[in-house]
Amino acid sequence: MRTTVGIIGAGPAGLLLARLLHNAGIDSVVLESRDRQYVEQRQRAGILEQGTVDVLRAAGAGTRMDREGLRHDGIELRFDRRRYRVDFPALTGGRSVTVYAQTEVCKDLIALQLKEGGPLLFGAEALAVEGAGTDRPRVRFRHQGREDVLECDYVVGCDGSWGVARRAVPAELVRVYERTYPFGWLGVLADVPPSHDELVYARHDRGFALLSMRSTSVSRLYLQVPEGTDAGSWDDDAIWAELERRFETGDGWRLERGPITQKSVTPMRSFVQEPMRYGRLFLAGDAAHIVPPTGAKGLNLAVGDVVTFARALTRLTETGSADLLDAYSETCLRRVWQAERFSYDMTTLLHRAPDATPFEDRLQLARLERVTASRAAATDLAEAYTGFPLD
Ligand SMILES: Cc1cc2nc3c(=O)[nH]c(=O)nc-3n(C[C@H](O)[C@H](O)[C@H](O)COP(=O)(O)OP(=O)(O)OC[C@H]3O[C@@H](n4cnc5c(N)ncnc54)[C@H](O)[C@@H]3O)c2cc1C
Repeated sequence: MRTTVGIIGAGPAGLLLARLLHNAGIDSVVLESRDRQYVEQRQRAGILEQGTVDVLRAAGAGTRMDREGLRHDGIELRFDRRRYRVDFPALTGGRSVTVYAQTEVCKDLIALQLKEGGPLLFGAEALAVEGAGTDRPRVRFRHQGREDVLECDYVVGCDGSWGVARRAVPAELVRVYERTYPFGWLGVLADVPPSHDELVYARHDRGFALLSMRSTSVSRLYLQVPEGTDAGSWDDDAIWAELERRFETGDGWRLERGPITQKSVTPMRSFVQEPMRYGRLFLAGDAAHIVPPTGAKGLNLAVGDVVTFARALTRLTETGSADLLDAYSETCLRRVWQAERFSYDMTTLLHRAPDATPFEDRLQLARLERVTASRAAATDLAEAYTGFPLD
């Protein structure tokens, strides 16, 4: 099998890249180790930055998102039983975000790819990337019980945090920057309309809580829990009671309960592997970097990477200039590190470390007070939340 761009992974990064390349007249093959149902149902991100929305729309993948996505013009910060709204358009000159689940983005892109794009093979597990430093990189993979080879001009590793692509970069060239957090998120999906029409980020002495949504009838709620918590150890009543405690306000606001349909625990991690390119192998999305989900940046960063790659390869094809391709790693990393910084800031602003001292608690509250009292501080948060430029 032979193609111009071999893409490993059919998460948002790989699927969108295949679509962008198709639109630019560049052929690709996508290898995905899991089956279609799994990819379409894996609950993860839900907040699309303005730039991500614009990219999906321009790629011809925005029809359902425009119909069903929910535009959000702000978030609420909750602490000390008080509420403060961060108004995005007022602080950023009109920017907003859109609530549209990652599962739906993937479904839309898969449908388009199968209808008019290049091959997308489910159940095709990449085993290794070979010859990344040569002009003829190859992906060895297993599909339907047989081993095969995909010969490529370029390979893009969009295979997430546990993929194989990044292992093809020689160890002596790799730089890894990493931080783990001593807590995770217990996330639930519940069949109940969201109790607030925007996301609520709550800082509480018992830990962080987030009220989010997937649609007008499905709530997505998170609780900070100790690292290593088993989701099964929390029964539904205990989850609702804890959410009520952490979201409590002094003005009588109420959290509506409903049937919980899914429960899982996500660990929290910051991670960057540099460089994001080795020879003809490019890393994109979670394959190169992870952010804790507090800043809602992971999917949006993945989009930024593949837009950068598609633009660079299109330029090479159209003009013969490899300048953008040569700058790929540096261009992506500038955005990545801004997102790492913001995600870290949001995480440490809102979560309670198990060993937090009273001094640190007071500092955290002072940082939150600052956002509510200073337009400059609120603008900094709003600009980062609605997204960093894609160029
Ligand atoms: C609970 C949670 C909440 C989140 N909330 C947000 C949010 O609100 N906003 C946001 O922007 N981000 C959020 N994120 C992060 C976001 O989901 C990820 O950053 C995003 O999925 C990255 O996309 P990706 O395509 O790079 O990787 P992935 O989505 O991980 O896709 C990688 C794909 O590669 C496949 N694969 C792996 N190994 C191989 C192999 N060897 N061969 C073939 N295929 C392989 C995998 O099966 C997978 O389909 C959240 C994440 C979690 C866990």
